[in-house]
Amino acid sequence: MSTARLIDGKAAAATVLAEVRGDVDALEAEGIEPTLAVVLVGDDPASHVYVRNKVLRAGEVGIRSLEYRLGADVSADELLELIERLNADRDVHGILVQLPLPRHIDENAVLEAIDPRKDVDGFHSENVGGLSQGREVLTPCTPTGCLRLLQDSLGDLSGLHAVVVGRSNIVGKPMAALLLQANCSVTVLHSRSRDAAALCRQADIVVAAVGRPRMIDAGWLKPGAVVIDVGINRIEEDGRSRLVGDVDFASASALASAITPVPGGVGPMTIAYLMKNTLIAARLQHAAAPEA
Ligand code: NDP
Repeated sequence: MSTARLIDGKAAAATVLAEVRGDVDALEAEGIEPTLAVVLVGDDPASHVYVRNKVLRAGEVGIRSLEYRLGADVSADELLELIERLNADRDVHGILVQLPLPRHIDENAVLEAIDPRKDVDGFHSENVGGLSQGREVLTPCTPTGCLRLLQDSLGDLSGLHAVVVGRSNIVGKPMAALLLQANCSVTVLHSRSRDAAALCRQADIVVAAVGRPRMIDAGWLKPGAVVIDVGINRIEEDGRSRLVGDVDFASASALASAITPVPGGVGPMTIAYLMKNTLIAARLQHAAAPEA
């Protein structure tokens, strides 16, 4: 039986997008048209869906988007030239290169080529370092969205023990840094952690970013824990294909005090924070720009 309160990511994302819409209107009144450039390389079907959704969402909140679709055989130099052009274009405020890139292109070199002030994914080393130093920088969309869900749910997070399961550069590590900045005590678990479930049972907050369907069940949770499930895993069940998280929702929601569903939890927040980052980037660039 489920006792946990459902953390509604769709509703939270709608609130964030309404905030963005208001900011877009304010910027437009100053003569600035917030613009996001999205670069898609190759023909990975999932990447096409992600890009389409990002462009659609941008349009809904009044952000102009520019799409650049390049063939899978594009050279690294051609891609880097495009990024240079976008870096230099004062009318482009955010640059997003959809990952993964084809194997012959060094992903890291591409991410490092993006002007950190236009790095709306927050993956550039200057932004990663800035986050770790507690500076105000562009931060990765998924963990930033998770932090917002937690703050909306719990208010001040100071002193709470957060366990992040997973240490990837795009979710686990920045999540840990953001929670630390929000004054949590943070434990990060990974595939080499010993007694991971026992460590996790000490957590007031659990953020699961593992990529393993339903790995975290009630046996990993302290009663009353708040659970954020980042995982998106496609499985075959009862003869049909469905999306499930890294958390066993049925089991965990009997013990947790609040929990995100999959889908409808973290996913919508990721895209909402991409829009928010585009706005932050536009503001930063115009605040820094010399008067014409
Ligand atoms: P990665 O595969 O990059 O990282 C997974 C992490 O989980 C690694 O750090 C790994 O440890 C750790 N791990 C693996 N097995 C275990 C285990 N048995 N116990 C503890 N830790 C373990 O994945 P991502 O971070 O990119 O993504 C995680 C999940 O989040 C995926 O399902 C992905 O689809 C989803 N996702 C969802 C998004 C959204 O918008 N909702 C956005 C981004 C991702 P180690 O480092 O030791 O290998």
